[in-house]
Amino acid sequence: MTTRSLQHVIQSMPTSDGAGVKLRRSIGAQRGLYLDPFLMLDEFGTDNPGDYIAGFPAHPHRGFETVTYMLDGRMQHRDHLGNVGDLGPGGVQWMTAGRGVIHSEMPLQESGRMRGFQLWINLPAAEKMKPAGYRDIPATEIPEHALPGGGSVKVIAGTVDIDGAAVSGPVNGPASRLSTDPLYLDLALPAGARFTQAIGAAHTAFVYAYEGSLSIGDGPAAKAVPRQAAGVLTPGDTVTLTAGPDGLRAVLIAGKPIGEPVVQYGPFVMNTRDEIEQAIRDYNDGTLASAA
Ligand code: FE
Repeated sequence: MTTRSLQHVIQSMPTSDGAGVKLRRSIGAQRGLYLDPFLMLDEFGTDNPGDYIAGFPAHPHRGFETVTYMLDGRMQHRDHLGNVGDLGPGGVQWMTAGRGVIHSEMPLQESGRMRGFQLWINLPAAEKMKPAGYRDIPATEIPEHALPGGGSVKVIAGTVDIDGAAVSGPVNGPASRLSTDPLYLDLALPAGARFTQAIGAAHTAFVYAYEGSLSIGDGPAAKAVPRQAAGVLTPGDTVTLTAGPDGLRAVLIAGKPIGEPVVQYGPFVMNTRDEIEQAIRDYNDGTLASAA
């Protein structure tokens, strides 16, 4: 049994995307620097409609998955397949771009708070050109459990072993059977509470605190992770997180590395330059998102 510690920190940087939506990007902020299988993590969080009102008008994706997790606010997704999905507080949209998706993501509100995350998970070569898939997971389908040490966990993907009075045993998130075997947890811990999670030994893992603070590991060896930054973990079987004096809200994310070359051009992520050029041609020809 090896306990994971903090390996390094990827600070988030303010940026904007879509039609000017303000957000903080950690993973993916530096061109060419990925955290296999993760390509990008954006946190958006604002009370100012001017920061989000323009949304993300129609744009393409090819070769990976986008996972949008709303904490506050409402967005609507529309795509070329005719899918329309309303994303509300606590809900997740899991979109597999595969061969191609053209979609828009627009706010369904003109005031109030908009807060959440978008994570990009790469696909292996064998799945990059599969048909697009789309799934809305409302908050009611995401298991939330109290933790014995205080606080609670929401299981979006992967498995958490809950040792509680009401539930004892493994709890599975709704997103499963994916080749990158993702773990995606949203944690709420009171001051000083600890949470230990098993993670596949070869999996890439990181934690991102969006409220409060945390440290990784135990005793004098514990290392603090700054807020609004991705704390990348060393290899190991388990990790123990401890909430700081103001408590903690954080996402803990892990996945199986793909180990293939990554060539990215904006919303297209493939293995070679030729494949990127093909994606651009297909987009310009209007065939990016049509059946092969
Ligand atoms: Fe998109």
